[in-house]
Amino acid sequence: MNGGLLRRLIAGLLLILLISWVFARGGSAVRTLAAADSPPTLVIDAGHGGFDGGAIGATGTTEQDINLSIARRVQALAGFFGVQTKMTRADEQALDYHPEKSVRDNKVTDIKAREKIVNDTMNPVFISIHLNKFSDAQYHGAQVFYSKNNAGSRDLAERLQADLIAGADPANHRQAKQAESTIYLMKKLDCPAVIVECGFLSNPAEEALLAQEDYHKQLAVCITCGYLQHASGV
Ligand SMILES: [Zn+2]
Repeated sequence: MNGGLLRRLIAGLLLILLISWVFARGGSAVRTLAAADSPPTLVIDAGHGGFDGGAIGATGTTEQDINLSIARRVQALAGFFGVQTKMTRADEQALDYHPEKSVRDNKVTDIKAREKIVNDTMNPVFISIHLNKFSDAQYHGAQVFYSKNNAGSRDLAERLQADLIAGADPANHRQAKQAESTIYLMKKLDCPAVIVECGFLSNPAEEALLAQEDYHKQLAVCITCGYLQHASGV
């Protein structure tokens, strides 16, 4: 797909979403107030950080920086659409880091700090942003994994997966999948919770894409659109 066509597709999708979002909010205002539900807060989690760089590509591309770049763009875009957001980490640092502790112990305190941020949030929806890596370089394509603890997780994951395919990589045939029970946050969180693996750093062509800021913007648009569709139910 060429860049001009893609931009028009994304602009059209955003316009449709904006219109449906405004109508959905207006139509449900009375019901929402009566139910006294707090509006959802989108908790955006840039995976890794600080001592934990995550995956590294063949040319040295580092996962933690790309995760943060995409997460920041999702926060800005979602905020533009009136979504309340919270970042688990807003900078390059890991959470609750103790230099005297082992890497293993710091990974535990870091992930528990992320869990606490979500649990301290009223009505959270959790999107964690990561990049994939595999021993075989042929594998590529974004894939979304969902927690089985909340019925909303799968809907969110499927919408994100569909928008990542439509807006970033129409040749990607991956499907949203239930997360392995060994993934701590997917096992522990009760809210709608997903991990977006935005692509494979082990695939040279995808690593080159993932190193570009324009591609981070493209991924952020797809993720934000998927979230808005999930939140408004359209
Ligand atoms: Zn990761």
